[in-house]
Amino acid sequence: MQKKLFIPGPVDVLPEVLKQMERPMISHRGKEISAILERIIGNTRKLMYTKNTILISTSSATGLMEGAIRNCVSKRCVNFANGAFAERWHGIAKECGKEADLVSVEWGKPITADIVDEALSSGKYDAMTMVHNETSTGVMSPISEIANVVKDYDVSFLVDTVSSMAGVKIEVDKLGIDVCLYGTQKCMALPPGLALCSVSDGALKKAEGITGRGHYFDFLALKKSIDKLQTTTTPAISLLYALDYQLDRIINKEGQENRYKRHAEMAGIARKWAADNFELIPEEKYASNTVTAIRNTKSMDLGGLKKKLAEKGYEFSNGYGKFKDVSFRIPHMGDRTVEELMQYLDDLDECISGPSC
Ligand SMILES: *Cc1c(COP(=O)(O)O)cnc(C)c1O
Repeated sequence: MQKKLFIPGPVDVLPEVLKQMERPMISHRGKEISAILERIIGNTRKLMYTKNTILISTSSATGLMEGAIRNCVSKRCVNFANGAFAERWHGIAKECGKEADLVSVEWGKPITADIVDEALSSGKYDAMTMVHNETSTGVMSPISEIANVVKDYDVSFLVDTVSSMAGVKIEVDKLGIDVCLYGTQKCMALPPGLALCSVSDGALKKAEGITGRGHYFDFLALKKSIDKLQTTTTPAISLLYALDYQLDRIINKEGQENRYKRHAEMAGIARKWAADNFELIPEEKYASNTVTAIRNTKSMDLGGLKKKLAEKGYEFSNGYGKFKDVSFRIPHMGDRTVEELMQYLDDLDECISGPSC
C-alpha cells in the first residue's frame, strides 16, 4: 500500500507533477533546456521575492549548505544553532576547513535578534549561518527581526530555508539574505534531488577573493553557466521538468499568498490538536507553519504508534536526533490539504486512544 507521507520530507507529490518526469530526455546543451531554465529562474525569483542570481544544483539541500560555506566564509563564521539542521552548518564549516564558532540555544527555542546581535558585535565574523525553520524541533526563528540586526554588520547572511520556502513568505531581498537555500522535497512538494539558492551580488563579489571554493559547488562557475541558461554538468532533466511545472502551479494556479494561507491554516489546526492532547515544543509565537513538533507528554510507545498508523496507510514521524523518543512531529507542508490533515488527526486520535500506545 502506498502510504501517505506524514513525514517532514520527502513529501507526497501530486500525480500531475510526477507525470512530468515521464517526458523523454532532451540534450542538456540545447535550446529546449535553456527555455526551461529561463522559466524556472524567472518563477524562482518570484517565489523568493528576489532579483539575485538563482543557482540550481543537482544535489540535496545539504550540498548548497556546503557551497555557501565554501564560497562565502573568508575569515570566520558563526553558526547559530537551535536544532539538528542548524548544527549541521557548523559541522560543514569545520569539515571545509573554515574557522567557525557555534552559538547554541536549547533545542526548542528560537534564534533571536539579540543572540545574533551579541555574537556579531564581537566583530570576529564575516559570515553567519542559521536555519529559518528548524525541522527537528518545529521552531521558526524570527527572520525579519534577525535581518534587521544583520543589516548593520558586514557579514554574509547564509540562511537554510529548506523546510519553509514555498510554505511561508520569505522575502529574500527585503531581508537582505545573501544565500537563501532549499531543496525540492519539502514545501515545494517535488521529489528529492534538486536544490536551489539565491546568491546576492555582494556574496558573488566576495567569492572571487576566496580560495578553496571547490569544483561542484563553486558559485562562480555555477553562475557563469546559468547566466548562459546552461548548467555546469548534466542536470537532473526529469526533475527540471517537474520543477518547471510545479513553480507554475504554485505561482500562477494556487497563488503564493493562497499557499501561505493554507500552510498557516493547517498549522493552526495541528497546534490546537497538540495543545488539546499534548504540549507544543516551541513557544506558540515561534511555532512553525510547516511542521508541528509535539512533546510526548503521555510517554506513548512511538514505535507502536508508528506501526498502527502504518496499518491505516500513513508514514508517521517521530522526533529527530536527540528528540527522537521524547517528541513526534506532524508535518503540514507542500501540497498537503486541510482535509487530509484533519483526517490524519482523526486517525491519530483513534490510534492513541486504542490499546498499546
Ligand atoms: C531536510 C532538511 C535539510 C536537509 O536537506 P537535504 O535535502 O536532505 O540535504 C536541511 N535543513 C533543514 C531545515 C531540513 O528540514
